[in-house]
Amino acid sequence: MTHLAIEDVSVNFGGIHALESVTFELEAGSIVGLIGPNGAGKSTLLNCISGITRPTRGRVRLGGAVLSAMSSAAVARQGIGRVFQHPELVAELSVHDNLLIACHLSLEYGLLSELLRLPNVRHQERTAAAKVANVLASLGIADSAAARVGSLPYGHRKLIDLGRALLMDIRFLLLDEPIAGLNDSEISRLREILLGLRREFGLGILVVEHNMPFVSGLCDRLVVLDLGQLIANGPPAEVLGDARVMSSYLGEAVDA
Ligand code: ADP
Ligand code: MG
Repeated sequence: MTHLAIEDVSVNFGGIHALESVTFELEAGSIVGLIGPNGAGKSTLLNCISGITRPTRGRVRLGGAVLSAMSSAAVARQGIGRVFQHPELVAELSVHDNLLIACHLSLEYGLLSELLRLPNVRHQERTAAAKVANVLASLGIADSAAARVGSLPYGHRKLIDLGRALLMDIRFLLLDEPIAGLNDSEISRLREILLGLRREFGLGILVVEHNMPFVSGLCDRLVVLDLGQLIANGPPAEVLGDARVMSSYLGEAVDA
């Protein structure tokens, strides 16, 4: 079974040790929560996995492929999808056109074709448009296809950004604080979408999130970073009961 291996990864920014010897694995079909206080190195770790930041030491591997030696475009072609904390979409274009752009950027459409069980249509343009329509339907935002992205609420834009990742042929999905700014119904919809992606395609999902009820209800495992170091890695109940985790961070979060 293929898994994403984070092996002894360190990142220094000038004198700042953003990550220090971080090692853990993300198995296909598992949902792992990456938690820790602000500045712990969570976004830096996602950047390392997606080829945006190069580790100072260590490596990120997917089977025999060393992702940490690749460009971010090459990492994406290996099937690593990324949803950003602040989605970068083209505000002037419609939802449909924003996703069509993502379609044209991707080289393979394997996951989505399978997801949607599309017949083999001849024209790629039509296929792309159909894929976009199906992704919008599966995210529950088909009604907004023609809407200008700039006119939509933040929660909608986050879902469109997720849709963009799904249009690629991904095996692993990385999400950075996906529920920040979402309302309760959007949060439960996102939860169902992520569980569906795991169930149907065996996607491995790594999600950075501060909301403890959300991560502990969704994730098989939690990995905790504190000041760049991995201080816990295990089932949510175990990790949330860990004295070191509680004192470094979760005491406040749980009280809140
Ligand atoms: P988190 O996402 O857990 O809040 P980050 O990964 O954003 O943490 O940041 C970890 C540490 O690295 C912080 O001290 C932050 O200031 C620093 N850092 C992050 N990115 C850069 C960068 N590009 N240049 C310099 N320092 C950075
Ligand atoms: Mg961050």
